[in-house]
Amino acid sequence: MTLNIRTVIKATGSAFALMIGVIIPLGYAVDDYLEASDHVNSEAGRSAAKVAQYVYKTGPLWAYTTLRLEDILADRPLAERDESRQQIIGLDGRTVYAEGGDVPRPALARRAPIHLDGETVAWVEARESVRPLLIETGIVALVSGVLGIGAFLLFRVLPLRVLDRTLARLDARERELRDQYVISECALNNMSQGLCMFDTDQRLITCNRRFADLYDLPDDLIKTGTPLSAILEHRVGIGSYSKSADTYFDERFDMVAQNKHRTDIVEQKDGRTIEILFDPLPGGGWVATHEDISERREAEARIVYLASHDSLTNLPNRVLFRQQLEAALGDIGTGTSFAVLSLDLDRFKEINDTLGHPIGDALLQEVAKRLMEQLRDGDLVARLGGDEFSVIQVELERPEAASDLAERLIGIIGAPYFIEGHQLVVGASVGVTIAPSDGIDGDQLMKNADMALYRAKSEGRGTFRFFEQEMDIRLQARRCLEQELRSALTNGEFELYYQPLFNIVANEICGFEALLRWHHPKRGMVPPDEFIPLAEETGLIVQIGDWVLRQACAEAAKWPLQITVAVNLSPVQFKSRGLVESVVGALATSQVSPHRLELEITESVLLQQGETTLTTLHKLRSLGVRIAMDDFGTGYSSLSYLRSFPFDKIKIDRSFVQHLSSERDSAAIVRAVTGLAHDLGMSSTAEGVESQETLDILRENGCTEIQGFLISPATPAHTVAELLARFGGGQSHKGMFRAQVRHRIA
Ligand code: C2E
Ligand code: CA
Ligand code: CA
Repeated sequence: MTLNIRTVIKATGSAFALMIGVIIPLGYAVDDYLEASDHVNSEAGRSAAKVAQYVYKTGPLWAYTTLRLEDILADRPLAERDESRQQIIGLDGRTVYAEGGDVPRPALARRAPIHLDGETVAWVEARESVRPLLIETGIVALVSGVLGIGAFLLFRVLPLRVLDRTLARLDARERELRDQYVISECALNNMSQGLCMFDTDQRLITCNRRFADLYDLPDDLIKTGTPLSAILEHRVGIGSYSKSADTYFDERFDMVAQNKHRTDIVEQKDGRTIEILFDPLPGGGWVATHEDISERREAEARIVYLASHDSLTNLPNRVLFRQQLEAALGDIGTGTSFAVLSLDLDRFKEINDTLGHPIGDALLQEVAKRLMEQLRDGDLVARLGGDEFSVIQVELERPEAASDLAERLIGIIGAPYFIEGHQLVVGASVGVTIAPSDGIDGDQLMKNADMALYRAKSEGRGTFRFFEQEMDIRLQARRCLEQELRSALTNGEFELYYQPLFNIVANEICGFEALLRWHHPKRGMVPPDEFIPLAEETGLIVQIGDWVLRQACAEAAKWPLQITVAVNLSPVQFKSRGLVESVVGALATSQVSPHRLELEITESVLLQQGETTLTTLHKLRSLGVRIAMDDFGTGYSSLSYLRSFPFDKIKIDRSFVQHLSSERDSAAIVRAVTGLAHDLGMSSTAEGVESQETLDILRENGCTEIQGFLISPATPAHTVAELLARFGGGQSHKGMFRAQVRHRIA
């Protein structure tokens, strides 16, 4: 086709050019030549006829009548005569007569015979120059040639160039389209999704390989024009669809009829899950992508599982536990109740630390298995971390069911385990809370169960406790106090009060006991009984105790030299190393002589870590510090403790002292203790003496010192001087003290 157009253009272009450039001038030349030839012929003929007439008339002498011949031959226009010549040529070939000038070459010559009586007697030759003819033809040829070249350019070169350009453009466009086609083909067939396009008549426009593979479509079903129904029939036929064929058709056709974007998840009979994205096409029809999302689904499910389960035991983890808890709380409205049990293994850490983590892990797996076996359908056990488990027991008809379960769990966990050649025994403690009676908030319930667990653990382990409201109140108050206690030291909220120790033999104050006070910014003065146990539990007592030692010694440094200062020590301070350094530090900075410092300890100090505590006590005593046994009589085997360490003093607890006048037993005990103290070379102090009567009895029974409200309660440091002045004591420095008192009053 292209070739034809080219040939046609070439042929017509060339023909035009040829016609204009060659044929026209050629025609012109031929025509002129013929005309000229005719003209010369007829001239020759005409002149021959005239000469014949003359010859006929004149006879054989005609050839010698030149004038006459001139007339005859000259009988023609002057102009013609310039460019043409006529001559009469005899039979012998000689020119008889010639008329006209030299004819410029080239010329055209024609001869006509001169007849006389039927015989040729001479010839008339007419000769005419064809130079004008040639010049004219040349001009015409020149013009035609130019026009021919123009025609050649106009009808051949130009159209060919336009054609070439158009063809090149078409070619490029075609290549572009081909490239695009290849790309889209490639993209289409390399898509991970199956893709199909249908027209308004529900006939297939196109689909890719993946689409065919996805539904195992034979080649004749992926041809353009295949009706949707044929493809659907095939899919239902091969069983790739789990619902009935009708439902499937309805669904598909419904989708097509609605003609708007939508996503469908189709579960295949073979277990695959296909996601279909359906989109209408602008000009009618639709495009749909089909993606096998089975793997993605599985991965998602796996992630969900991993995110909600503990990898070691495969039990639900905290996340799933919380979800289930919220779900159970959601059911509360229907009148059901449930229990949350917090379970913690007793001494699991020891097993883990001594036998190694692999055995610890195996034990946890075994525990998880046993727990699972004890649960009913609907109940849930989760591992919240470490050796902490939690159970939701649903459909609780009565609280006893929860205690039954708790008991069962403790029992089953307590049975021996055989792991890698080891026989292991581990106990469990359980805290139980019941919803909705104990709370209807997930966090609250978990906290309740933990509190009950804490109680179970602190009350002997291997047992369970139910949550009680007061646990919560106490715990909250405690937490609050703990935080405040931490900042109390840095905020300078502590103060030491001093209570006199009165020697009833010398009748004067012999020392003071330093007693700690906390000025709480909101609650005012907090008594030590309320915060010392907490300080001990949190370990804060170590820092506080150090401060008390330094503060008490610093204060005592201002007192008369024979007045002692007594400081209470907590068992916790003995556990933490550094007590001796603390004491030495306090003495060194204050420059107080060690024998003026008395450290009061209770039996509980001796109860713990016998040897190290005794070593510390000996070290302290070797410094010259005196050691007193405080609250004597409140412990168990008091007397044996008295022998275990050479105490300098026994302080008889005020519970014996206060009932001295009414209870005979108390008097007997006091007497026995003072006697024993005396025998062992210790002094004895009676605490909590509030009346003169008590004092009298004590004096009768050989007690050496008293302490109590009868003399004075504990008061701020600045009152010491007044007390000494009032009750006597530190006589040798009385002058100095009185001066101090006066100075302060002034
Ligand atoms: P404690 O060592 O037995 O101290 C004596 C307690 O009895 C003091 O109570 C004191 O005020 C009180 N008391 C004194 N005379 C009488 C009396 O005649 N009648 C009555 N009913 N009570 C009397 P406080 O100051 O409340 O101290 C309570 C406990 O707090 C102390 O008992 C001591 O065990 C502890 N404590 C106080 N300060 C410290 C300290 O700095 N460190 C340590 N570790 N414990 C301290
Ligand atoms: Ca004391
Ligand atoms: Ca005491």
